[in-house]
Amino acid sequence: MAEANNTPYPYEAPVSQGLFDRASVVTPGGVNSPVRAFRAVGGTPRFMVSGTGPYLTDADGREYVDLVCSWGPMILGHSHPEVIAAVQRAVARGTSFGTPGEGEVALAEEIVARIEPVEQVRLVSSGTEATMSAIRLARGFTGRAKVIKFAGCYHGHVDALLAAAGSGVATFGLPDTPGVTGAQAGDTIVLPYNDLEAVRAAFAAHPGEIACVITEASPGNMGVVPPRDGFSAGLRAACRENGALYISDEVMTGFRTSKAGWFGVDGVAPDLMTFGKVMGGGFPAAAFGGRADVMAHLAPAGPVYQAGTLSGNPIATAAGLAQLRLLDDAAYAAVDAVSAQLRALVTEALTKEGVAHRVQNASNMFSVFFTDGEVRDYDDAKGQESFRFTPFFHSMLEQGVYLPPSAFESWFVSTAHDERAVERIAAALPAAARAAAEATA
Ligand code: PLP
Repeated sequence: MAEANNTPYPYEAPVSQGLFDRASVVTPGGVNSPVRAFRAVGGTPRFMVSGTGPYLTDADGREYVDLVCSWGPMILGHSHPEVIAAVQRAVARGTSFGTPGEGEVALAEEIVARIEPVEQVRLVSSGTEATMSAIRLARGFTGRAKVIKFAGCYHGHVDALLAAAGSGVATFGLPDTPGVTGAQAGDTIVLPYNDLEAVRAAFAAHPGEIACVITEASPGNMGVVPPRDGFSAGLRAACRENGALYISDEVMTGFRTSKAGWFGVDGVAPDLMTFGKVMGGGFPAAAFGGRADVMAHLAPAGPVYQAGTLSGNPIATAAGLAQLRLLDDAAYAAVDAVSAQLRALVTEALTKEGVAHRVQNASNMFSVFFTDGEVRDYDDAKGQESFRFTPFFHSMLEQGVYLPPSAFESWFVSTAHDERAVERIAAALPAAARAAAEATA
């Protein structure tokens, strides 16, 4: 049966609704990735049919300024002509060979050239695969089992990493979802983000047992919560002192927050890093890489097994390479500038309506928290008045601005967000801010 759509919002998207009804019959919840279902905000998920520059067009023919950018990858906007041309050239030669190919070498070389700590890299197809494989490699390299992660950091749907904990320090992970067993999550230690003392205490409590610390380089999956000064360096130091590996998950920040991702911003060199999103140019391509002596443990060079039928797919690598080659200093300056402009506009609109808010950013990634104070960790993020986000979101949507459908996500912009796109967002913000001001819990 089609899922009931109990939205308090009058939907004006009959074609999307029809598609959602059809989808709900053959796909759980009607979507292939949960956040797309709009459960956090209610209403009809918009089924998109095309994208050009900063705009998406839905099945009902409505155009939106896109502030999701496919959750990060589309940093040049949609249908960039040079990326499309690279894809067309690649696809004309065949779609998958199951052999090595030059495109993979070129993409790996581009990554290694941009990011100093990455001496070797292995291509995979999703960010989840990248983090899962990096954790396996860290365990294989160190011969240890335990992993430290931080509450509110998302690393894909890896069993061992789908563990969160209460706000206690050094709490053992409890599975966050049915289907992940206690054994799978039992070696995961979940700590509050930005809390170095908690990290030191966990190492002290488990001498010689911790294989690695994995963290989002600058978290974007609880909203944007950058590391406080010294946090990343402190993590690296704690790992070194205790013989553990430091894994920086740059799936979201990589090739977005600078030419060299978050590493390019804070300069703290991890042992292993993970990438995805931007490096695939909108196709399924991701990677993990780092110290050559660690990567040497990976099959076929070493004993830690990892593989993939479509790894290094020629279309995905062509798209990723074309996108990365277009991402020069001027491109990052443009994305940073439009992000700063939008942050100022959001601040102005919410301030005018007297809405408590805080806009946090990690270079051009940013998000809006409906709270007064600094957001340093997941508890802070959860403490915001997220009920204000729902009417804010729907007001923007109705006015043709597509925001992430959750109060706990980063907003993404691209080089294609030009003056016209920014003006449309600016025009929509006052009514959305008013809706946020009028919201009740
Ligand atoms: N790591 C981070 C930081 C992410 O933001 C994501 C996805 O949003 C992932 C890993 C998982 O990537 P994927 O969705 O490609 O599996």
